Amino acid sequence: MINIVLFGPPGSGKGTQAQHLIEKFNLKQISTGDLFRYNMKNETELGKLAKSYIDKGELVPDQVTTDMLIDEVKKPTDTRGFIFDGYPRTAIQTQSLEKIVKEILNDDISVCLSLVVDDEVLVERLLKRGETSGRTDDSNEEIIRNRITEYYTKTAEVAELYKQQGKYAEVNGVGEIEEIAQKLFAEVEKVQK
Ligand code: ADP
Repeated sequence: MINIVLFGPPGSGKGTQAQHLIEKFNLKQISTGDLFRYNMKNETELGKLAKSYIDKGELVPDQVTTDMLIDEVKKPTDTRGFIFDGYPRTAIQTQSLEKIVKEILNDDISVCLSLVVDDEVLVERLLKRGETSGRTDDSNEEIIRNRITEYYTKTAEVAELYKQQGKYAEVNGVGEIEEIAQKLFAEVEKVQK
């Protein structure tokens, strides 16, 4: 199997690059952001709870997010592995994911691929996306800046944990989409079993 953690700040292009990786390596994407948005759209209990955090640009509590992720990982799939997009976002979630992959998939995380993009570029991209995405968390600069602050205070340490395990690779997330995809492919090829 290949199990990729796709990592980076909000607006770094994880969703876009996940699509390329899925096709190239036959993977299933699990995006916690997409799952929350699906639940918010359908006004489920989980969606209502998540909305109270997401609309402020805050992270949803670990346990809620992890339970949702476990349900997805348990669904049968015939792909070669998974792309975890938007999870883990805290040190605790990093430990949870290790356990989930081990116990449910009987496997390990292959690599954490990190997209690096400057903060001001992120803000610009997210404000632009907000013009058409309809996402409440893209709608104003204060919420966007709060998401970036959450990233630095709670999420950036996830990278350190994968670095310690020798499972971390950074790719510049600014440039042509296709060119960035090729760099990510090369990193995956290095760790393919
Ligand atoms: P972005 O486009 O900012 O990278 P996502 O679409 O991945 O964001 O997620 C949107 C929001 O959903 C996040 O700002 C956060 O509130 C919530 N969320 C997504 N994944 C997680 C997670 N792993 N832990 C906590 N909250 C999460």
